Amino acid sequence: MKQIYFFSEGNKDMRQLLGGKGANLAEMTRLGLPVPAGFTITTEACHEYQRNNNKLSNSLIQEIDNALIKLSKNTNKKFNDTVNPLLISVRSGAAISMPGMMDTILNIGLNDKSVVALAKITNNERFAYDSYRRLLAMFGNVVYGISEEIFDQVLTDTKKNNNYKSDIELTTEDLKSIVERFKEIYTKEAHKDFPQNPEDQILAAVNSVFESWDNNRARVYRKQNNIPETLGTAVNVQTMVFGNAGEDCGTGVAFTRNPATGEKNLFGEYLLNAQGEDVVSGVRTPQSIDTLQSSMPKIYGQFADIAQKLEDHYQDMQDLEFTIEHGELFLLQARNGKRTPEAAVKIAVDLVNEGLIDKKTAISRIDPESISAMLHSDFDKEELKNHRELTTGLPASPGAASGQVYFTADTAKEAHDNKHQKVILVRQDTSPEDIEGMVVSEAIVTSRGGMTSHAAVVARGMGSTGVVGAHELQVDYKNKVAKINDTVINPGDWISVDGTKGKIYSGQIPTSEAVIKGDLSILLNWAKEISDMGVYTNADTPADFQKALDFDADGIGLTRTEHMFFKSERLLQMRRLILAKDATGRKDPLEKLLAMQQNDFYEIYKLSAGKSVTVRLLDPPLHEFLPHDAKEIKLVADELGENVEDLENRIDSLKELNPMLGHRGDRLAVTFPDIYQMQVRAIINAVLRLKDEGIEIKPHIMIPLTDSKSEMQWVRNLVENQIKELSSDVEYQVGTMMEMPRACVTANQIAEVSDFFSFGTNDLTQLTFGYSRDDVGSFMPEYIKQGILPNDPFQSVDIEGVGELMKMAVDRGRQTKSQLPIGVCGEVGGDPKSIQFFDKIGITYVSCSPYRIPVARIAAAQATI
Ligand code: PEP
Ligand code: MG
Repeated sequence: MKQIYFFSEGNKDMRQLLGGKGANLAEMTRLGLPVPAGFTITTEACHEYQRNNNKLSNSLIQEIDNALIKLSKNTNKKFNDTVNPLLISVRSGAAISMPGMMDTILNIGLNDKSVVALAKITNNERFAYDSYRRLLAMFGNVVYGISEEIFDQVLTDTKKNNNYKSDIELTTEDLKSIVERFKEIYTKEAHKDFPQNPEDQILAAVNSVFESWDNNRARVYRKQNNIPETLGTAVNVQTMVFGNAGEDCGTGVAFTRNPATGEKNLFGEYLLNAQGEDVVSGVRTPQSIDTLQSSMPKIYGQFADIAQKLEDHYQDMQDLEFTIEHGELFLLQARNGKRTPEAAVKIAVDLVNEGLIDKKTAISRIDPESISAMLHSDFDKEELKNHRELTTGLPASPGAASGQVYFTADTAKEAHDNKHQKVILVRQDTSPEDIEGMVVSEAIVTSRGGMTSHAAVVARGMGSTGVVGAHELQVDYKNKVAKINDTVINPGDWISVDGTKGKIYSGQIPTSEAVIKGDLSILLNWAKEISDMGVYTNADTPADFQKALDFDADGIGLTRTEHMFFKSERLLQMRRLILAKDATGRKDPLEKLLAMQQNDFYEIYKLSAGKSVTVRLLDPPLHEFLPHDAKEIKLVADELGENVEDLENRIDSLKELNPMLGHRGDRLAVTFPDIYQMQVRAIINAVLRLKDEGIEIKPHIMIPLTDSKSEMQWVRNLVENQIKELSSDVEYQVGTMMEMPRACVTANQIAEVSDFFSFGTNDLTQLTFGYSRDDVGSFMPEYIKQGILPNDPFQSVDIEGVGELMKMAVDRGRQTKSQLPIGVCGEVGGDPKSIQFFDKIGITYVSCSPYRIPVARIAAAQATI
């Protein structure tokens, strides 16, 4: 098995084997771009390492040795050489990028001997020792697990003793003594010496990178981003170029478009006389790439050309890492840049308009889930006036959020998990160790760092609000307090963060609704054009329906009429209805409810403007409407003119041991036909009223909980007889929900008496698994944690079980009626993964809550593509 590929041997399509970074370094090499020479150890070698009990195999060690000899020949540099020493970096790189989560070591090859050579050839002794101390610290931390803080403390003490403000002021002599102190740390902390042999250094580094695949933060990141555990990482071994060898050197990162807004201009940061991690760690605040235009115009021009070339080549926005060594530009990395949901949409639409990609490609690049982040709110303009603006930083990740401040990832996580607080993580800067605290935070705020700092990249990646580099903010970890000018912020204090403008406010500010406009609206229209699946909404009120229409719903797939009965006046009438002694007693409350329902339907139909509206007749168990406490019971008894004791007896007689499997849905129609009759009258009266106003409505009436053809036939007769009593020229449809396993099995029969099906996957999942949908909270998390279930089947359809029943029902239903419209209106109707599956089995439309509509629209288009 070939375990090593030189950059010149690979290409961009080899991500699985070479990792994203390795494949792109190979591609850039192939394109003739200035990439320092090197090779990639494959992800298969990583798997082999894992199989080999986390040890490098002899064959890999042999291959590494050979590759180093070849690299040495190609570059004319040698390990341990006193004239031209070979120095390399060892970096991780999985097939899916996991920025900062795994380990990297730079400057490998330096030792007591080659540091002298490096000083000589660069004519810069300070630089050589600076590089050496960096290697010692990184290697010590990554390979021997010595805490970074121990090394940092030596730097801090040296600066303090000499009254230096920054690392730049450290002299050669300081660095030489720091190197000696660092070596002592090895002996003290790890009881080992720093390995002077470069081959030993590289093997230890490769070993550590493979091992870092399994470190805690990488695992958390993979879980958060659904990255498979089985991928493994590749390792890139590359000749070093130095951005810290003088003032004509530098290093930076840049995006070919703005990753926060999507605007088309080179966007990035760099630091002169600095090395890799300095830019992203947020320790020094870098300069905007625009200034490179004046400080190094030739380099800027060359870089801008390469950026354009790479964007055209990959047909997507690129995230580039570069280093300038004595006025010469090198590219260290290119990858598709991470971006906010807003930027993703703008870039996709712009690339179509620029003719680089087509509409289908544009849609396939959008993560449907991320769209919901774009529908998040902004601060309420009026409320904002009552809050003090504390400071401004860089607008790293858009959105608006309020929360309680915490200064460490652990305390933020604790407050979120145990006290259910909305939290905001406020720090000087963040590092990959903070990931768990960042995940739970509404917003992330840092006092240092730029737009490409760790905090900014992670906030954007997670779609959470972020402000970085807020210089007026001072975070004092030791005393657990922060200050912004005269304002003191303690843990638990509320602040509000506007990541779009980069502003921080005191206190908690309510947010206002987002609207769909601009590029998002263009993209959603394309999605609508492309997809052949309808996207409807579940809406019970005109306000919900209006919201859904604003999001361009195709109609209503489910109105749960029982939700209309929970308002106080209606609830009382409903209670009178179900607790009345007989049909006569039910008359008056039925009339009252009729008037109210009629009005509800009138309003909803009026809004529909020709779009189809499916109204489901009463579904839940009657006991949900029963009065519980003495005061409520007395009120109903008074209304009914009965004594409390009699009423209590009747309430008892209606109680069920297993209500969700009891007297609900169409079973109610059989025992209380007048309730369904009233609802049908309300629907038809509303339709007739609109007809008088010149608006034609074709009502779709849906029957819940059907389990057999005979039952459906019975209820259908009831409904149709009622319609006929009121009008002979209303065009209507009567369909059924498919939520009983028996209904799925007998779908061919049920289709004979149904005009449409709509899967109620909430109940279907409940009944297929035998899990009470209201009680799963007590065991579901453990089932997922233990890997018994891959995810919650109430949120993403269980394809193997519930999905198979659905497929059977679709096939059997269409055996009877080939054109039978079939929808899904359970919770999973708005879930992108489920939508993919529904498209495969021939579902006509999904129906979901208003805010899920844009998400479902994109997912439906992706399913069609
Ligand atoms: C369902 O069961 O999936 C459904 C949509 O109905 P409800 O949630 O109202 O029971
Ligand atoms: Mg149901």
